[in-house]
Amino acid sequence: MLTIGCHLSSSKGYLAMGKDAVKVDADTFQFFTRNPRGTKAKALNPDDIAAFLDYAGDHGITKILAHAPYILNAASADTHLRELAGEIMADDLSRMEHLPGNCYNFHPGSHVGQGTETGISHIARVLNGILKSRLHTTVLLETMSGKGSEIGREFEELREILDRVEQSDHMGVCLDTCHVWDAGYDIVNRLDQVLDHFDAVIGLGRLKAIHLNDSQNPLGSHKDRHAKIGKGHIGLDAMVRIISHPALKDLPFYLETPNELDGYAGEIALLRACIKPEA
Ligand code: FE
Ligand code: FE
Ligand code: ZN
Repeated sequence: MLTIGCHLSSSKGYLAMGKDAVKVDADTFQFFTRNPRGTKAKALNPDDIAAFLDYAGDHGITKILAHAPYILNAASADTHLRELAGEIMADDLSRMEHLPGNCYNFHPGSHVGQGTETGISHIARVLNGILKSRLHTTVLLETMSGKGSEIGREFEELREILDRVEQSDHMGVCLDTCHVWDAGYDIVNRLDQVLDHFDAVIGLGRLKAIHLNDSQNPLGSHKDRHAKIGKGHIGLDAMVRIISHPALKDLPFYLETPNELDGYAGEIALLRACIKPEA
């Protein structure tokens, strides 16, 4: 059974997101914990969370994915920015305890000229400062396209972060199809080999979520410009192979394509139709 959803605006609260998800025939969704370009978060509304949990139960919505703001950089050369990243992630994780059993995804960070090695050690230190044994959320490292000095363009870099995190049982990986394509992993012609490589380096057991996006750019471009499903260089056939691949098909898929709700509804319907078993 395909579990698919899209990125939704969290500005009207959790119940509103649940209702938006049902509108587009999604069974899951992703949302920003706060303004993606800022750091302020609204106070949690316990009534909204309770109403959402009821609604989600009634409508089969599971595995919601929180996304940290983009501006955090746990690999920054600036101590204060690293501390800020840790504080915001810790606050997000304490909020996520109200929605236990879900995942929280973040961009590992950019080393901004310090080198990958130094960046990785900064990220691991931030994670070691916030991961507590009683956490009920899995923290996901997102695979990145490698634009600028982004860390996470190679599976090996994510492996190194995981190796340095003490509570790594609280950690997983979110694979973004646009990002890995832009990073140079040929998921169109060599999906099996890419997944074998992921398994050898990180372990498929760590893979908890897929960001399903087409790419406006060719393989290895390091650009990170998402395209609508089937409208980019990855293409619909490859997308269908990804959502039906035995190693991936039971994972939750989240669309982050340039769409409003109507567009997401169309993509979800298209993808569901493409994997319907032949009668
Ligand atoms: Fe992301
Ligand atoms: Fe993504
Ligand atoms: Zn992206």
